Amino acid sequence: MAFHGAGRQTVCGNLFPGSELGHKYFCVNSSSGAPSTGLSATPCLTGPTMEPDRPIGYGAFGVVWSVTDPRDGRKVALKKMPNVFQNLVSCKRVFRELRMLCFFKHDNVLSALDILQPPQIDCFEEIYVITELMQSDLHKVIVSPQPLTTDHIKVFLYQILRGLKYLHSAGILHRDIKPGNLLVNSNCLLKICDFGLARVEEPDPSRHMTQEVVTQYYRAPEVLMGSRHYGSAIDVWSVGCIFAELLGRRILFQAQSPIQQLDLITDLLGTPPLSAMASACEGARAHILRGPHKPPSLSVLYMLSDGATHEAVHLLCRMLVFDPAKRISGSDALSHPYLDEGRLRYHTCMCQCCYSVPSGRVYTRDFEPPAERPFSHSYENSLLSVWQGKELIHRFITEHQQGKRVPLCINPQSAAFKTFIR
Ligand SMILES: [Zn+2]
Repeated sequence: MAFHGAGRQTVCGNLFPGSELGHKYFCVNSSSGAPSTGLSATPCLTGPTMEPDRPIGYGAFGVVWSVTDPRDGRKVALKKMPNVFQNLVSCKRVFRELRMLCFFKHDNVLSALDILQPPQIDCFEEIYVITELMQSDLHKVIVSPQPLTTDHIKVFLYQILRGLKYLHSAGILHRDIKPGNLLVNSNCLLKICDFGLARVEEPDPSRHMTQEVVTQYYRAPEVLMGSRHYGSAIDVWSVGCIFAELLGRRILFQAQSPIQQLDLITDLLGTPPLSAMASACEGARAHILRGPHKPPSLSVLYMLSDGATHEAVHLLCRMLVFDPAKRISGSDALSHPYLDEGRLRYHTCMCQCCYSVPSGRVYTRDFEPPAERPFSHSYENSLLSVWQGKELIHRFITEHQQGKRVPLCINPQSAAFKTFIR
Protein backbone atom coordinates (compact mmCIF):
# COMPACT_ATOMS: atom_id res chain seq x y z
CA MET A 1 0.00 0.00 0.00
CA ALA A 2 1.28 3.46 -0.84
CA PHE A 3 0.88 6.52 1.28
CA HIS A 4 -1.32 9.19 -0.16
CA GLY A 5 0.75 12.26 0.22
CA ALA A 6 3.86 10.47 1.44
CA GLY A 7 6.70 12.89 1.81
CA ARG A 8 4.40 15.56 3.13
CA GLN A 9 5.72 17.37 6.15
CA THR A 10 4.06 16.10 9.34
CA VAL A 11 4.21 17.31 12.88
CA CYS A 12 5.83 14.59 14.93
CA GLY A 13 6.51 13.90 18.55
CA ASN A 14 4.40 15.03 21.42
CA LEU A 15 0.91 15.88 20.24
CA PHE A 16 -0.21 16.87 23.71
CA PRO A 17 1.37 19.73 25.59
CA GLY A 18 2.90 16.93 27.65
CA SER A 19 3.67 18.65 30.89
CA GLU A 20 0.13 19.76 31.46
CA LEU A 21 -1.34 16.40 30.63
CA GLY A 22 1.35 14.76 32.67
CA HIS A 23 0.46 16.70 35.78
CA LYS A 24 -3.24 17.03 35.49
CA TYR A 25 -4.50 13.99 33.71
CA PHE A 26 -1.91 11.29 33.94
CA CYS A 27 -1.97 8.89 36.80
CA VAL A 28 1.71 8.08 36.91
CA ASN A 29 3.45 8.97 40.11
CA SER A 30 7.06 8.78 41.15
CA SER A 31 8.01 7.20 44.43
CA SER A 32 11.55 8.40 44.97
CA GLY A 33 12.67 8.27 48.56
CA ALA A 34 9.85 6.02 49.71
CA PRO A 35 10.77 2.97 51.78
CA SER A 36 10.77 0.24 49.22
CA THR A 37 9.69 -3.24 50.07
CA GLY A 38 7.21 -4.19 47.39
CA LEU A 39 8.29 -6.08 44.32
CA SER A 40 11.57 -7.84 44.20
CA ALA A 41 13.50 -10.05 41.88
CA THR A 42 13.55 -13.51 43.43
CA PRO A 43 14.68 -14.54 45.93
CA CYS A 44 12.43 -12.09 47.69
CA LEU A 45 14.75 -11.41 50.60
CA THR A 46 17.48 -9.84 48.50
CA GLY A 47 17.84 -7.76 45.41
CA PRO A 48 16.37 -4.41 44.45
CA THR A 49 12.89 -3.74 45.69
CA MET A 50 10.25 -1.13 45.05
CA GLU A 51 7.04 0.43 46.27
CA PRO A 52 3.83 0.42 44.24
CA ASP A 53 3.04 4.02 43.40
CA ARG A 54 -0.73 4.10 43.32
CA PRO A 55 -3.71 2.50 41.67
CA ILE A 56 -4.14 3.68 38.10
CA GLY A 57 -7.28 1.99 37.01
CA TYR A 58 -9.91 -0.63 37.36
CA GLY A 59 -10.80 -2.86 34.45
CA ALA A 60 -13.84 -5.07 34.07
CA PHE A 61 -11.97 -7.47 36.32
CA GLY A 62 -8.94 -6.55 38.38
CA VAL A 63 -6.98 -3.58 39.69
CA VAL A 64 -4.00 -1.93 38.03
CA TRP A 65 -1.09 -0.24 39.81
CA SER A 66 1.88 1.75 38.63
CA VAL A 67 5.12 0.10 39.78
CA THR A 68 8.84 0.22 39.06
CA ASP A 69 10.51 -2.93 37.79
CA PRO A 70 13.49 -3.43 40.15
CA ARG A 71 15.47 -5.17 37.41
CA ASP A 72 15.78 -2.14 35.17
CA GLY A 73 14.06 0.75 36.92
CA ARG A 74 11.41 0.88 34.24
CA LYS A 75 7.93 2.08 35.15
CA VAL A 76 5.39 -0.60 34.35
CA ALA A 77 1.78 -1.43 35.17
CA LEU A 78 0.96 -4.28 37.53
CA LYS A 79 -2.46 -5.84 37.19
CA LYS A 80 -3.93 -8.07 39.84
CA MET A 81 -6.38 -10.66 38.60
CA PRO A 82 -8.36 -11.51 41.72
CA ASN A 83 -10.86 -14.25 42.58
CA VAL A 84 -9.38 -16.45 39.91
CA PHE A 85 -10.30 -19.72 41.54
CA GLN A 86 -13.76 -18.86 42.86
CA ASN A 87 -15.48 -21.08 40.34
CA LEU A 88 -14.90 -22.69 36.98
CA VAL A 89 -16.30 -19.70 35.03
CA SER A 90 -13.91 -17.19 36.64
CA CYS A 91 -11.05 -19.65 36.26
CA LYS A 92 -11.71 -20.00 32.52
CA ARG A 93 -12.18 -16.25 32.08
CA VAL A 94 -8.91 -15.34 33.76
CA PHE A 95 -6.96 -18.09 32.03
CA ARG A 96 -8.32 -16.86 28.69
CA GLU A 97 -7.32 -13.27 29.42
CA LEU A 98 -3.89 -14.36 30.62
CA ARG A 99 -3.28 -16.45 27.51
CA MET A 100 -4.45 -13.59 25.30
CA LEU A 101 -2.11 -11.10 27.02
CA CYS A 102 0.78 -13.50 26.41
CA PHE A 103 -0.34 -14.16 22.82
CA PHE A 104 -0.56 -10.56 21.64
CA LYS A 105 2.32 -9.13 19.68
CA HIS A 106 1.10 -5.83 18.30
CA ASP A 107 1.96 -2.24 19.11
CA ASN A 108 -1.69 -1.20 19.42
CA VAL A 109 -2.72 -4.03 21.70
CA LEU A 110 -1.63 -4.21 25.33
CA SER A 111 0.29 -7.39 26.10
CA ALA A 112 1.96 -9.05 29.07
CA LEU A 113 5.59 -8.10 29.60
CA ASP A 114 5.88 -10.55 32.46
CA ILE A 115 3.89 -12.55 35.01
CA LEU A 116 4.92 -12.60 38.66
CA GLN A 117 6.19 -15.89 39.92
CA PRO A 118 3.33 -17.78 41.57
CA PRO A 119 3.77 -19.29 45.04
CA GLN A 120 3.46 -23.01 45.70
CA ILE A 121 0.23 -24.27 44.19
CA ASP A 122 -1.45 -24.67 47.61
CA CYS A 123 -1.06 -20.92 48.28
CA PHE A 124 -1.79 -19.85 44.70
CA GLU A 125 -4.84 -17.54 44.76
CA GLU A 126 -4.10 -14.47 42.64
CA ILE A 127 -2.26 -13.71 39.43
CA TYR A 128 -0.19 -10.57 38.83
CA VAL A 129 0.62 -9.51 35.30
CA ILE A 130 3.05 -6.79 34.27
CA THR A 131 2.23 -4.74 31.21
CA GLU A 132 3.55 -1.60 29.65
CA LEU A 133 2.54 1.53 31.58
CA MET A 134 0.44 3.97 29.63
CA GLN A 135 -0.21 7.44 30.93
CA SER A 136 -3.86 7.99 30.20
CA ASP A 137 -6.85 6.71 28.30
CA LEU A 138 -9.16 8.17 25.68
CA HIS A 139 -11.98 8.73 28.17
CA LYS A 140 -9.77 10.96 30.31
CA VAL A 141 -8.52 12.78 27.22
CA ILE A 142 -12.04 13.36 25.85
CA VAL A 143 -13.40 14.79 29.12
CA SER A 144 -10.29 16.94 29.70
CA PRO A 145 -10.01 20.51 28.41
CA GLN A 146 -7.01 19.33 26.36
CA PRO A 147 -7.31 20.37 22.70
CA LEU A 148 -8.18 17.47 20.44
CA THR A 149 -7.37 18.32 16.84
CA THR A 150 -8.26 16.50 13.65
CA ASP A 151 -4.66 15.22 13.61
CA HIS A 152 -5.17 13.65 17.04
CA ILE A 153 -8.45 12.07 16.01
CA LYS A 154 -6.99 10.63 12.82
CA VAL A 155 -3.98 9.10 14.50
CA PHE A 156 -6.09 7.69 17.34
CA LEU A 157 -8.71 6.21 15.03
CA TYR A 158 -5.99 4.74 12.82
CA GLN A 159 -4.42 2.97 15.77
CA ILE A 160 -7.73 1.71 17.17
CA LEU A 161 -8.57 0.14 13.81
CA ARG A 162 -5.04 -1.16 13.36
CA GLY A 163 -5.25 -2.96 16.72
CA LEU A 164 -8.78 -4.14 16.02
CA LYS A 165 -7.79 -5.62 12.66
CA TYR A 166 -5.10 -7.60 14.45
CA LEU A 167 -7.52 -8.88 17.12
CA HIS A 168 -10.18 -9.85 14.61
CA SER A 169 -7.63 -11.58 12.39
CA ALA A 170 -6.73 -13.70 15.44
CA GLY A 171 -10.43 -14.58 15.75
CA ILE A 172 -10.85 -12.52 18.93
CA LEU A 173 -13.85 -10.31 19.69
CA HIS A 174 -13.00 -7.66 22.29
CA ARG A 175 -16.66 -7.04 23.22
CA ASP A 176 -15.96 -4.04 25.46
CA ILE A 177 -14.37 -1.40 23.25
CA LYS A 178 -14.89 1.97 24.95
CA PRO A 179 -12.73 5.07 25.46
CA GLY A 180 -11.60 3.90 28.92
CA ASN A 181 -10.19 0.72 27.39
CA LEU A 182 -8.06 2.62 24.88
CA LEU A 183 -4.85 3.57 26.66
CA VAL A 184 -2.74 6.42 25.33
CA ASN A 185 0.58 7.97 26.22
CA SER A 186 1.75 11.53 25.74
CA ASN A 187 3.07 10.73 22.25
CA CYS A 188 -0.44 9.63 21.29
CA LEU A 189 0.54 5.99 21.02
CA LEU A 190 -2.64 4.01 21.63
CA LYS A 191 -3.16 0.47 22.88
CA ILE A 192 -6.39 -1.49 23.23
CA CYS A 193 -6.62 -3.06 26.71
CA ASP A 194 -8.83 -5.00 29.08
CA PHE A 195 -9.60 -8.38 27.61
CA GLY A 196 -11.73 -9.47 30.56
CA LEU A 197 -14.77 -9.81 28.30
CA ALA A 198 -12.96 -10.87 25.13
CA ARG A 199 -13.70 -14.21 23.57
CA VAL A 200 -13.02 -16.22 20.47
CA GLU A 201 -15.36 -15.68 17.55
CA GLU A 202 -18.12 -18.30 17.42
CA PRO A 203 -18.45 -19.65 13.88
CA ASP A 204 -21.59 -21.69 14.65
CA PRO A 205 -24.64 -19.37 14.48
CA SER A 206 -26.75 -21.85 16.45
CA ARG A 207 -24.51 -21.40 19.51
CA HIS A 208 -25.84 -18.74 21.85
CA MET A 209 -23.57 -15.97 23.09
CA THR A 210 -24.03 -13.84 26.17
CA GLN A 211 -25.80 -10.48 25.94
CA GLU A 212 -23.90 -9.11 28.92
CA VAL A 213 -21.19 -7.44 26.90
CA VAL A 214 -20.13 -3.95 25.93
CA THR A 215 -20.79 -0.91 28.06
CA GLN A 216 -24.27 0.21 27.02
CA TYR A 217 -23.38 3.46 25.21
CA TYR A 218 -21.13 1.53 22.80
CA ARG A 219 -23.36 -1.52 22.41
CA ALA A 220 -24.23 -2.51 18.86
CA PRO A 221 -27.89 -2.63 17.78
CA GLU A 222 -27.79 -6.40 17.19
CA VAL A 223 -26.78 -6.94 20.82
CA LEU A 224 -29.40 -4.45 22.05
CA MET A 225 -32.00 -6.30 19.96
CA GLY A 226 -31.20 -9.55 21.71
CA SER A 227 -29.40 -11.29 18.87
CA ARG A 228 -28.16 -14.65 20.14
CA HIS A 229 -25.21 -14.65 17.80
CA TYR A 230 -22.95 -11.81 16.82
CA GLY A 231 -19.49 -11.25 15.39
CA SER A 232 -16.63 -8.82 15.04
CA ALA A 233 -19.03 -6.14 13.70
CA ILE A 234 -20.02 -5.36 17.33
CA ASP A 235 -16.51 -4.00 17.94
CA VAL A 236 -16.67 -1.87 14.78
CA TRP A 237 -19.93 -0.32 16.01
CA SER A 238 -18.22 0.61 19.27
CA VAL A 239 -15.36 2.22 17.34
CA GLY A 240 -17.90 4.23 15.30
CA CYS A 241 -19.43 5.55 18.55
CA ILE A 242 -15.96 6.47 19.80
CA PHE A 243 -15.08 8.18 16.52
CA ALA A 244 -18.19 10.37 16.89
CA GLU A 245 -17.30 11.00 20.54
CA LEU A 246 -13.81 12.14 19.56
CA LEU A 247 -15.30 14.55 17.03
CA GLY A 248 -18.05 15.93 19.27
CA ARG A 249 -16.40 15.38 22.66
CA ARG A 250 -19.57 13.94 24.02
CA ILE A 251 -21.06 10.47 24.08
CA LEU A 252 -23.00 9.87 20.86
CA PHE A 253 -25.79 7.67 22.24
CA GLN A 254 -26.09 8.39 25.94
CA ALA A 255 -29.23 6.57 27.08
CA GLN A 256 -30.52 5.47 30.46
CA SER A 257 -31.66 2.00 29.41
CA PRO A 258 -31.08 -0.50 26.60
CA ILE A 259 -34.50 0.34 25.06
CA GLN A 260 -33.74 4.07 25.09
CA GLN A 261 -30.31 3.22 23.67
CA LEU A 262 -32.01 1.54 20.74
CA ASP A 263 -34.38 4.48 20.34
CA LEU A 264 -31.49 6.95 20.14
CA ILE A 265 -29.84 4.80 17.48
CA THR A 266 -32.99 4.64 15.35
CA ASP A 267 -33.47 8.40 15.82
CA LEU A 268 -30.18 8.84 13.97
CA LEU A 269 -30.23 5.94 11.51
CA GLY A 270 -33.97 5.78 10.91
CA THR A 271 -36.23 2.76 11.33
CA PRO A 272 -34.27 -0.28 10.12
CA PRO A 273 -35.72 -2.51 7.41
CA LEU A 274 -36.98 -5.93 8.52
CA SER A 275 -33.97 -7.57 6.87
CA ALA A 276 -31.67 -5.74 9.31
CA MET A 277 -33.53 -7.26 12.26
CA ALA A 278 -33.36 -10.86 11.11
CA SER A 279 -31.59 -12.10 14.23
CA ALA A 280 -33.43 -9.86 16.69
CA CYS A 281 -35.60 -11.28 19.43
CA GLU A 282 -39.36 -10.93 18.97
CA GLY A 283 -39.85 -8.31 21.69
CA ALA A 284 -37.19 -6.00 20.28
CA ARG A 285 -38.53 -6.29 16.74
CA ALA A 286 -42.06 -5.57 17.99
CA HIS A 287 -40.78 -2.48 19.85
CA ILE A 288 -39.27 -1.07 16.64
CA LEU A 289 -42.33 -1.85 14.51
CA ARG A 290 -44.74 -0.48 17.12
CA GLY A 291 -43.06 2.91 17.11
CA PRO A 292 -43.44 5.65 14.50
CA HIS A 293 -41.55 5.26 11.25
CA LYS A 294 -38.39 7.35 11.57
CA PRO A 295 -36.43 8.75 8.62
CA PRO A 296 -32.64 8.78 8.91
CA SER A 297 -31.10 12.03 10.15
CA LEU A 298 -27.44 11.35 9.49
CA SER A 299 -26.79 14.92 8.39
CA VAL A 300 -26.67 15.90 12.09
CA LEU A 301 -23.28 14.18 12.21
CA TYR A 302 -21.87 17.17 10.31
CA MET A 303 -22.68 19.25 13.36
CA LEU A 304 -20.49 17.22 15.71
CA SER A 305 -17.60 19.62 15.16
CA ASP A 306 -15.54 21.39 12.52
CA GLY A 307 -13.62 18.13 12.16
CA ALA A 308 -16.77 16.39 10.88
CA THR A 309 -15.82 16.79 7.24
CA HIS A 310 -17.47 14.93 4.41
CA GLU A 311 -14.73 12.30 4.56
CA ALA A 312 -15.11 11.85 8.32
CA VAL A 313 -18.89 11.58 8.17
CA HIS A 314 -18.65 9.16 5.23
CA LEU A 315 -16.47 6.78 7.24
CA LEU A 316 -18.62 7.26 10.34
CA CYS A 317 -21.73 6.33 8.37
CA ARG A 318 -20.04 3.14 7.17
CA MET A 319 -19.34 2.12 10.78
CA LEU A 320 -22.70 3.11 12.24
CA VAL A 321 -24.75 0.76 10.08
CA PHE A 322 -27.67 -0.97 11.80
CA ASP A 323 -27.31 -4.25 9.92
CA PRO A 324 -24.04 -5.92 11.06
CA ALA A 325 -23.78 -7.74 7.72
CA LYS A 326 -23.60 -4.36 5.94
CA ARG A 327 -21.33 -2.61 8.43
CA ILE A 328 -17.76 -1.99 7.27
CA SER A 329 -15.11 -4.33 8.72
CA GLY A 330 -12.20 -3.00 10.76
CA SER A 331 -9.84 -4.08 8.01
CA ASP A 332 -11.82 -2.33 5.23
CA ALA A 333 -12.22 0.81 7.34
CA LEU A 334 -8.43 1.13 7.32
CA SER A 335 -8.56 1.59 3.55
CA HIS A 336 -10.80 4.66 3.87
CA PRO A 337 -9.03 7.84 2.70
CA TYR A 338 -9.86 9.55 6.02
CA LEU A 339 -7.18 7.39 7.64
CA ASP A 340 -4.37 8.13 5.17
CA GLU A 341 -2.98 10.99 7.22
CA GLY A 342 -3.21 9.04 10.47
CA ARG A 343 -1.30 6.19 8.83
CA LEU A 344 1.33 8.60 7.54
CA ARG A 345 1.81 10.25 10.90
CA TYR A 346 1.92 6.94 12.75
CA HIS A 347 4.52 5.36 10.47
CA THR A 348 6.56 8.52 10.12
CA CYS A 349 7.28 9.09 13.77
CA MET A 350 5.45 6.78 16.16
CA CYS A 351 5.70 3.15 15.04
CA GLN A 352 8.21 0.42 15.78
CA CYS A 353 7.89 -1.19 12.35
CA CYS A 354 9.55 1.49 10.18
CA TYR A 355 12.89 3.21 10.67
CA SER A 356 14.89 6.16 9.44
CA VAL A 357 18.18 6.13 7.58
CA PRO A 358 20.14 9.22 6.44
CA SER A 359 18.47 9.07 3.04
CA GLY A 360 14.94 8.93 4.46
CA ARG A 361 12.36 6.69 6.04
CA VAL A 362 12.26 2.95 5.36
CA TYR A 363 8.65 1.83 5.60
CA THR A 364 7.47 -1.62 6.56
CA ARG A 365 5.90 -3.82 3.89
CA ASP A 366 2.63 -4.28 5.78
CA PHE A 367 1.34 -1.22 7.61
CA GLU A 368 -1.49 -3.09 9.29
CA PRO A 369 -0.30 -6.64 9.89
CA PRO A 370 -2.77 -9.38 10.84
CA ALA A 371 -2.03 -11.91 13.58
CA GLU A 372 0.40 -14.63 12.56
CA ARG A 373 -2.08 -17.28 13.65
CA PRO A 374 -5.52 -17.50 15.23
CA PHE A 375 -5.76 -17.52 19.00
CA SER A 376 -6.41 -21.08 20.08
CA HIS A 377 -8.91 -21.80 22.82
CA SER A 378 -9.08 -25.56 22.43
CA TYR A 379 -7.62 -25.93 25.94
CA GLU A 380 -10.90 -24.63 27.39
CA ASN A 381 -12.83 -27.76 26.49
CA SER A 382 -10.60 -29.90 28.68
CA LEU A 383 -10.84 -27.54 31.65
CA LEU A 384 -13.36 -29.28 33.88
CA SER A 385 -12.62 -28.28 37.48
CA VAL A 386 -11.20 -25.36 39.44
CA TRP A 387 -8.34 -27.47 40.78
CA GLN A 388 -7.42 -28.62 37.30
CA GLY A 389 -7.56 -24.99 36.18
CA LYS A 390 -5.26 -23.99 39.01
CA GLU A 391 -2.72 -26.62 37.95
CA LEU A 392 -2.94 -25.59 34.30
CA ILE A 393 -2.52 -21.87 35.05
CA HIS A 394 0.35 -22.55 37.47
CA ARG A 395 2.10 -24.62 34.82
CA PHE A 396 1.37 -22.04 32.12
CA ILE A 397 2.98 -19.23 34.15
CA THR A 398 5.99 -21.36 35.11
CA GLU A 399 6.57 -22.42 31.52
CA HIS A 400 6.03 -18.87 30.28
CA GLN A 401 8.84 -17.65 32.52
CA GLN A 402 11.37 -20.31 31.58
CA GLY A 403 14.52 -18.97 30.03
CA LYS A 404 13.40 -15.38 30.49
CA ARG A 405 14.61 -12.72 32.91
CA VAL A 406 15.03 -13.17 36.65
CA PRO A 407 11.49 -13.85 37.86
CA LEU A 408 9.75 -11.25 39.97
CA CYS A 409 7.64 -11.99 42.99
CA ILE A 410 5.72 -10.03 45.58
CA ASN A 411 7.31 -9.36 48.92
CA PRO A 412 4.52 -10.24 51.35
CA GLN A 413 6.06 -8.01 54.05
CA SER A 414 5.43 -4.86 52.03
CA ALA A 415 2.85 -2.58 53.62
CA ALA A 416 1.96 -1.14 50.24
CA PHE A 417 1.35 -4.52 48.77
CA LYS A 418 -0.81 -5.51 51.69
CA THR A 419 -3.24 -2.81 50.60
CA PHE A 420 -2.86 -3.89 46.99
CA ILE A 421 -3.57 -7.51 47.81
CA ARG A 422 -6.55 -6.71 50.01
ZN1 LIG B 1 5.71 1.64 10.72
